[in-house]
Amino acid sequence: MTEPSIFTRILNGEIPAEILGETDRVFALRDIAPQAPVHLLVVPKSAEYRDVAELAAGDPALLAEMIAFAKELAATHTDDGDFRLVFNTGANAGQTVFHVHAHVLAGGLTEKSVG
Ligand code: 5GP
Repeated sequence: MTEPSIFTRILNGEIPAEILGETDRVFALRDIAPQAPVHLLVVPKSAEYRDVAELAAGDPALLAEMIAFAKELAATHTDDGDFRLVFNTGANAGQTVFHVHAHVLAGGLTEKSVG
């Protein structure tokens, strides 16, 4: 059996984290190493999908739910509601946790970088 992901362990209360909200199928937490003034993560409760490409193929409604939840979070955690979504997909693209998650980056991002 593979080890539970860090997000599953957080969801199970084994590792502390700042949980910001949840629905039946997704939850959100603050990233431990923020790369923007607001850096949140939206994560499906199920670890079934490794990355966003697998998720899009297997459960597009869940991907849509993640994006809707990201929008709600940005509305709550920023003045303007604007946000950038990042899905690192594969180790060579910077993915370190293979339990699909969206990075929600916000809070006055003015540069045009996509990274
Ligand atoms: P990835 O590199 O897979 O795209 O994103 C994983 C993210 O999870 C990273 O931004 C990293 O900072 C975050 N992360 C890793 N371990 C923890 C943790 O224990 N708690 C929280 N809140 N975030 C974590």
